Amino acid sequence: MGLNELGLCQLVDMLKAGDVSPFEVASDLFAAVEAFEPNIRAYIEFYAEDLLEQTKQLSSNGGYRTKRFAGLPIAVKDNIVVKGKRTTCGSRMLADWASPYDATVVERLRSDGAVIAGKTNLDEFGMGSSTENSAFGPTRNPWNTKRVPGGSSGGSAAAVAAGTALAALGSDTGGSIRQPAGFCGVVGMKPSYGRVSRYGLVAFASSLDQIGPLTKNVKDCALVLSSICGWDARDSTSLQNGVTDFEHAVADPPRTFTVGVPRDLLTMGMDAVVEANFNATVELLEANGAEVAEVTLPHSRYAVASYYTVANAEASSNLARFDGVKYGHRTGATSDLYTLVTRSRDEGFGDEVKRRILLGTYVLSAGYYDAYYLQAEKVRSLITTDFDTAFDRCDVIMMPTSPTPAFRFGERTDEPLHMYLSDVFTIPASLAGLPGISIPSGTTGDGLPLGVQLIGPPLGETIVLQSAAALEQMIGFDGKAVV
Ligand code: GLN
Repeated sequence: MGLNELGLCQLVDMLKAGDVSPFEVASDLFAAVEAFEPNIRAYIEFYAEDLLEQTKQLSSNGGYRTKRFAGLPIAVKDNIVVKGKRTTCGSRMLADWASPYDATVVERLRSDGAVIAGKTNLDEFGMGSSTENSAFGPTRNPWNTKRVPGGSSGGSAAAVAAGTALAALGSDTGGSIRQPAGFCGVVGMKPSYGRVSRYGLVAFASSLDQIGPLTKNVKDCALVLSSICGWDARDSTSLQNGVTDFEHAVADPPRTFTVGVPRDLLTMGMDAVVEANFNATVELLEANGAEVAEVTLPHSRYAVASYYTVANAEASSNLARFDGVKYGHRTGATSDLYTLVTRSRDEGFGDEVKRRILLGTYVLSAGYYDAYYLQAEKVRSLITTDFDTAFDRCDVIMMPTSPTPAFRFGERTDEPLHMYLSDVFTIPASLAGLPGISIPSGTTGDGLPLGVQLIGPPLGETIVLQSAAALEQMIGFDGKAVV
């Protein structure tokens, strides 16, 4: 078995003990990339040379052993900037743009002794649920290459599942970490809004975007989150308060906790196999002494409509900066500025991004602002209030991560609404800014992984991670992708 197949925490222990070197770990990871990447295509760019060179240097003295990650490679979604490297956002618009600086999360990983392994594939600018919207081609699901890996952090999820990344960062606006984690049988967490700095994350919808970890297990997730979280002077939305040592919190979980189940929401287009797995998970919790409480989230049925209004509005504004003048793709010779901008944008953006810019501009325009954008924000407040009420009765809320397992390529590309509905269970926590984690909860009869999601109150990462660690142990998931 290659070292790349082990968990992050396990490897850190081995590295700190001097049983293996960072170079040995990187070499096994590289071998896995050579073997599986042609089939999976999880990376836009894998930094093979840098990785081997840097870990060789690290290995020559033992200094790395004092650091949190002790020289381990970690992959980063390609909408997070790494100094001197391309950040494409899965778009032709940024195909050749290299960043002059590191994102705060990258800086923090590095100062904790991690080495950046490469950039993972995504739906263009994070817009999608299948990684089919990448200008660089889709990523395949390592459990079944005819299926999508989910999205938009599909590359990060697929790499962790295939063992071509030990852990990865993703970004989650409406489910983009949790949904691909569910589809690929790995752990993925969206922290509370404000928990992690977005400095150096290319903005999609600024009131929703968060960076978070995708890992093989909950403990690894806590390790990565502890490294990247915390206040940052360069992101005015990052928060000053809160625990930042989640590593030790998961090692010491509460003996019992109450899980809220919003049955009223669980009617939304769920596959029978998802429902059966979810019910079995509820029973498992009860059998292991957790309390299960019925809660209601009456306004979350409007979450998808609210999200695709708010997110598109914000995207239309954020993406205005890609005009072919300051940066971004610039069209060939033109005679005037108007043509330069419109043609550059037409050539640089893909169809889904254009659709969202048009819809977003529409809902923000005079005469429609009140009817659509403002209304969507009001619904968002109601959704948030429902969560507040529900958390009076429970510590965490559980629902399936997605209403279906990973779907086939092309199955949802003709009908955008069909694609958007795959986010029904992840969007409510996004709109309310709450922390949510997806952990593997079983497999379908034909061997596709399923996930359940635990959602906590604002800044409730500790209880989310602790209950996820407890549930992970109860489930004892030992499935593995078949790449
Ligand atoms: N699938 C959702 C969308 O397309 C969420 C994407 C995300 O979280 N970045 O907007």
